[in-house]
Amino acid sequence: MGLIVQKYGGTSVANIERIRNVAQRIIKYYQAGNDMVVVVSAMAGVTDHLIRMANQITENPNPRELDVLMATGEQTTVALLAIMLEDMGYPSVSLLGYQAEIITNPAYGRARIIEIHAERIRELLRQRKIVTVAGFQGCDEKGNITTLGRGGSDTSAVALAAALDADVCEIYTDVDGIYTTDPNICKKARKLKKISYEEMLEAASLGAKVLQIRAVEFAKKYNVPIHVRSSFSEEEGSMVVREDKDMERFVVTAVTYDKNEARITLTRVPDRPGIASKIFTPIAEEGILVDMIIQNTRQGGLTDLTFTVPKTDFKRAMAIEEEVARAIGAENVMGDEHIAKVSVIGVGMRSHTGVAVTMFSALARENINIMMISTSEIKISCVIEEKYTELAVHVLHDAFGLERISR
Ligand code: ADP
Ligand code: ASP
Ligand code: MG
Repeated sequence: MGLIVQKYGGTSVANIERIRNVAQRIIKYYQAGNDMVVVVSAMAGVTDHLIRMANQITENPNPRELDVLMATGEQTTVALLAIMLEDMGYPSVSLLGYQAEIITNPAYGRARIIEIHAERIRELLRQRKIVTVAGFQGCDEKGNITTLGRGGSDTSAVALAAALDADVCEIYTDVDGIYTTDPNICKKARKLKKISYEEMLEAASLGAKVLQIRAVEFAKKYNVPIHVRSSFSEEEGSMVVREDKDMERFVVTAVTYDKNEARITLTRVPDRPGIASKIFTPIAEEGILVDMIIQNTRQGGLTDLTFTVPKTDFKRAMAIEEEVARAIGAENVMGDEHIAKVSVIGVGMRSHTGVAVTMFSALARENINIMMISTSEIKISCVIEEKYTELAVHVLHDAFGLERISR
């Protein structure tokens, strides 16, 4: 018996039958004596649909109003779930983000949770209510509705688990755990019984959308164990937990891919102090996140500089850099939207050598050209042509023997 926070993703609440299935699962835990807080996403496809409707009016909808709109997806499911639970004879109360007092900063569309006043939820739990909370949304200090970025319901759940000091945060999704790579593109992917916060942080930031990165940050900071599992089966899933000694036995534990970035190159840039700042300040001021950066060696006082930005910001970033190029006297600005980043991740990399060579050789054997490379203590990423993504994932999964991993 304890306090359990569960989160059900879009496919788990995609229709009334599935909401019934979810309710039955919640009741089982409730009957066993647990206090239950349940976070839900919008029905699968609904958030995309809402965004498309706004885009039928304008390409740049007012961010505040877009958040009001997007938050309706979760408002629907949280109410339906509470109605379902009541109908089955169990006391339930639904709360929207602001009612659960999930306070965020005012960054519409990518708000960060600052604090949660959990007293109202605690009081409802004392009354033995099943509390259902709309994921993905909060409100800023002025009471404006905010959303937490795509996939943000994961973060709502983990943040609530941290605020309520829950025993576990269960994330129910359409796969039955965290795999060595996306099981939907690589049939050889193996389910991991456990993965460390550090590895999951890297994996989430490098494209494995199974958990939103902020959710993992919260879990790590507040030491919340996350159990990722399927709402369609009873099977144990994967635990995201603190690193243990055993984990370093494997050099690489996961392969990820990310098709959401684009590449921008400025050619023949004058190589002198202050230039990098001139290139990156205007895009930072626009709130565009730069990921990888490469600067080549100097020739005749000139250099080439390449970096990546989210595809959604590509056009804006290109327009800005074309102006910058004129101002600083660079020759040209080239863009490429057809790239992908493939990465290998593992805490074992800290104590093993040769990982990069294995990765580069595996890609070379398939004639896949590497455009950019970046590394950290526990990951190596390569930018390649987008059309080779699936092939690259397969060959890297093979090269590191991930179908034989047991952890
Ligand atoms: P939900 O709607 O439940 O939040 P998401 O679509 O956000 O679900 O995340 C689950 C998806 O994450 C899976 O369907 C799978 O395609 C993808 N995924 C990517 N990498 C991995 C991985 N390493 N392990 C499991 N799933 C992964
Ligand atoms: N419904 C939101 C989205 O589609 C949040 C979530 O599913 O976690 O991004
Ligand atoms: Mg998700």
